[in-house]
Amino acid sequence: MHLGSSGTSWTRSGRGCLQHIPSRTCRRFRDNKPGQFWHVTDFHLDPTYHITSDHTKVCASSKGAKASDPGPFGDVMCDSPYRLIFSALDFIKNSGQKVSFMIWTGDSPPHVPVHELSTDKVINVIANITTTLQHLFPNLQVFPALGNHDYWPQDQLPVVSSKVYNAVADLWKPWLTEEAITTLKKGGFYTQKVSNNPKLRIISLNTNLYYGLNSMTLNETDPANQFEWLENTLNISQQNKEKVYIIAHVPVGYLPSTSYITAIRKYHNEKLIDIFRKYSDIIAGQFYGHTHRDSIMVLSDKKGNPVNSLFVAPAVTPVRSILEKLTNNPGVRLFQYDPRDYKLMDMLQYYLNLTDANLKGESNWKVEYNLTQAYDIEDLQPKSLYKLAKQFAKQESKQFIKYYKYFFVSYDSSVICQGKCKIFQICAIMNLDVISYTDCLKQYHMKRSL
Ligand SMILES: [Zn+2]
Ligand SMILES: [Zn+2]
Repeated sequence: MHLGSSGTSWTRSGRGCLQHIPSRTCRRFRDNKPGQFWHVTDFHLDPTYHITSDHTKVCASSKGAKASDPGPFGDVMCDSPYRLIFSALDFIKNSGQKVSFMIWTGDSPPHVPVHELSTDKVINVIANITTTLQHLFPNLQVFPALGNHDYWPQDQLPVVSSKVYNAVADLWKPWLTEEAITTLKKGGFYTQKVSNNPKLRIISLNTNLYYGLNSMTLNETDPANQFEWLENTLNISQQNKEKVYIIAHVPVGYLPSTSYITAIRKYHNEKLIDIFRKYSDIIAGQFYGHTHRDSIMVLSDKKGNPVNSLFVAPAVTPVRSILEKLTNNPGVRLFQYDPRDYKLMDMLQYYLNLTDANLKGESNWKVEYNLTQAYDIEDLQPKSLYKLAKQFAKQESKQFIKYYKYFFVSYDSSVICQGKCKIFQICAIMNLDVISYTDCLKQYHMKRSL
């Protein structure tokens, strides 16, 4: 196998490890084939997408703006044509990677004005993608989470049973247990153990209940009693000596492209961070979508010790609004974990160069980067990511330049992020609660060292 110049920590052929590789990492992979799972998110299918000479009419999701360079796999002014979504899933199917399960963190419908959708249209889009997954992967267990667009009107996910919750519960029955179906119908969240991984539990949260634009949950301290349920679930899990992967659509923490804005409401963010800190010893990973960008976060305890690794996956849709200059190439990712304790070892980010694919008329999905190789780190543990984030913070950090290119899934290799842009990124990676985040910004503004 290919050994990158930055050094790889293990060989796929199983012939042993390189001499300079830490023996702990080597042993993990030599003695155990890593467990693997896929993470896909933010498909945003636009069924109206079609090639036509009038570029304002290519897709409803461009909202009347001209498509930029529409081709068979999509356009950056539009949400995904079905062909793009199918190409991503077909690539996964034919990748040869053996996985135990897949996580799918929501947002299937397109970004269009509210009157162009309806409850039935939203359900139809989710059903379309669900059936595509079930046909392509009849033997794969998929763990979905609802996104803020998986509802009509968008963002308004309720704290009680609804037509959408009932519909997705029916659609997702083949993957979930009775108990999971019951809570999904009531509040859009569930927990379930992974088949064939008896000590691994997935908790799929409905963080859309904490989303600022959700007027159904305004002033509610614990919408749908999800916090109470989460604490209970984590508590039982801890007693049973399980490990937990948290999956959800809207991430916790601060948005990395701006300052002082949390992805969910500030109050709910603090509450969720408290719970995650309390149970960080059993939470082996957290996986989100929603921002459409590729980013990491490291949760530290109140003393500043890193205790949890969080991963926000980039979208399959390449869409951007007219106000934005940049967007992301379509991406899907593969995680590798130690099957003995579910510790995250590595992540492979795959992507489609949309411009190339449209030019050639064929989709050539390939590896964008391998997380441990790209940054020369040992694994995906909180300590490793924390050290990496410290590297990012240094002036002219080459690692950070890479990180910022990958943030947009290599959409534009010449992107530069300096000064405030970089401070916001660094503070959002390393600080998820208001006190530490505020301290971080203050510290950089005072020093103005970047
Ligand atoms: Zn989205
Ligand atoms: Zn979203």
